[in-house]
This record gives sequence, structure tokens and C-alpha cells, in this order.
Amino acid sequence: MTASPNPSYIGRFAPTPSGHLHFGSLVAALASYLDARSVGGRWLLRMEDLDPPREMPGAQAAILDALQRYGFEWDGELVRQSERHDAYAQVVDRLFSQGLAYACTCSRKQLEGYNGIYPGLCRNAGHSMENAAIRLRVPELEYAVEDRVQGTFRQHLGRDAGDFVIRRRDGLYAYQLAVVLDDAWQGVTDIVRGADLLDSTPRQLYLQELLGLSQPRYLHVPLIVQPDGHKLGKSYRSPPLTPDQASPLLLRALRALGQAPDESLDGASPREILDWGIAHWNAGLIPRTLTLAEAQLR
Ligand code: GLU
Ligand code: ZN
Repeated sequence: MTASPNPSYIGRFAPTPSGHLHFGSLVAALASYLDARSVGGRWLLRMEDLDPPREMPGAQAAILDALQRYGFEWDGELVRQSERHDAYAQVVDRLFSQGLAYACTCSRKQLEGYNGIYPGLCRNAGHSMENAAIRLRVPELEYAVEDRVQGTFRQHLGRDAGDFVIRRRDGLYAYQLAVVLDDAWQGVTDIVRGADLLDSTPRQLYLQELLGLSQPRYLHVPLIVQPDGHKLGKSYRSPPLTPDQASPLLLRALRALGQAPDESLDGASPREILDWGIAHWNAGLIPRTLTLAEAQLR
């Protein structure tokens, strides 16, 4: 069962090739795919290869291979952010020349002790763009996103984010800038991704506003937490998705998303499981958080 084509929904999955896909990426990919396909929407794939030094050799091919083995089919050509530098450069130049962004020459050492919130040292220094990071000036305002699962998430940009980098000192473009430009350029209407990115969203809303771009809808799938509710440490990494586990892991991911695949799906192919998911998708059942035990064992 496939819904009829619906051009008013465009979703996407946007992996970073710094490593393999793992269970958390599968949950995000699956939610975004089912949310799009259940309404006949398009589903795009974008490789967020902005940071060659942190790219794992072979990761791009491994990600594409895993997606195919898990039954995902995307629309149109794969877009790579490494091919979009001209578009990013134009916007950075414009924001800089309008005074909305400025050059920052602070060293890592100088920024120690500020908890990642830039204290504005270079705001009025008038540095030139060469050999400098470019930071966006943020307003002393609160931005709020109405997330379909997480509810209202608010952030005061000045206090909780600070002037943030849109182009690094080494010339590489920042995720916050590229994601906003590419989602708009690709006509994405619905962003479904991991809840680790919820606190990036207010910065992205500000960029959208500044650039006159329309705001997509957001759905952040549950973050996997420890039984006491604390976030998993960065050191926690679930293993890469293996091809032979596609069906059981898809079923586990569906359950993690609050869906209730029936027993008839035991032994089903990845494609059959995805088709069941499309036909039965109910985003209203997605939980806000998930414990490690639930993510792994249910
Ligand atoms: N590339 C990001 C990641 O892999 C996801 C970006 C997004 O979905 O906005 O975490
Ligand atoms: Zn600075």
C-alpha cells in the first residue's frame, strides 16, 4: 500500500560519514522515511561530508550499502555537501558584508572556561575574513521550536548558544549553516532526526529567519537515555548496523518508535517490514525518551 504522490511533504535523511550507521541512525532514518512515505511524500538522501579530516574512509559507501540492505529507497540523486561549497561561500560573504557575521581570531586556549558559549571577544574587532573563523551574531532573544514529539523547546540564543561559527578558521563550513541552506534548497518541509539535534534547532531557526527561508516542521526522535534519565555519554557507541540483522533491527527500531509490528512480521524481509511501517505509521505513538534497555532489548 503506497499513498498517492504528495509534493507537499519532502523529508530527508542526512548522515555524516564520520562513521558507520548505528542503531540510533537507523531509528532516525526509519522515522523520517515512514513519516514521508505514509503520506506519499518524497524522501531525499544527503551526505553531510563537510569535514574531510573527520571522515572515515569508506563510510560513504558503507552508509549507502547499509541503507540499501535495510530496504530504504530514496528519491532523486544523492546530494553531497562537499559539492555545495559555492552556495555556502556566497551566504557567508553576504552575512559578513552585512555585518551580521564577523571574523573571530580567538584561539582555543582563549575560549577555555566559557562552556562553548562564545563571549563575544571579537564582535567589534573588525578582523578581516582571512585566517579567521566567521561567527554569526545572535540576538538576545529566545527562539522556540514546536516539535511534534518533544513539545516546545526554547533557547535564549545570546545566553545559551552565543555567536556561533558558520565557517571555521580552516575554511570548512559549519553544520548549522549547511543544514539550513541545503534543507531550503532541497525544499525540505519536514525534518525528522535525532533528539541530539534539538538544541541546534533554535540556531537554525534564527538562520532561516535571517535568510528569509521558510521554516520546516520538526520531529526529533527519542534520545536514548540511561535508566536514571541521564544522557548517554559520548563514549557510548552502539555497534555498526550489520547487513544480516536488517529485519530484526528494523523491528526493534519500529518498537523503539512506539509502533507495534505484529507477529506476522517475524521472518519478513526488510522491504516487507518497511511496507508494514508505511501502512501503520502513527507518529503520535513515538515516546519522548527511550532507555538503553528499551532500545536494545524490547
Ligand atoms: N548530519 C547530522 C548527523 O548525522 C544530521 C543532520 C540533520 O539531520 O539535521 O548527525
Ligand atoms: Zn574571537
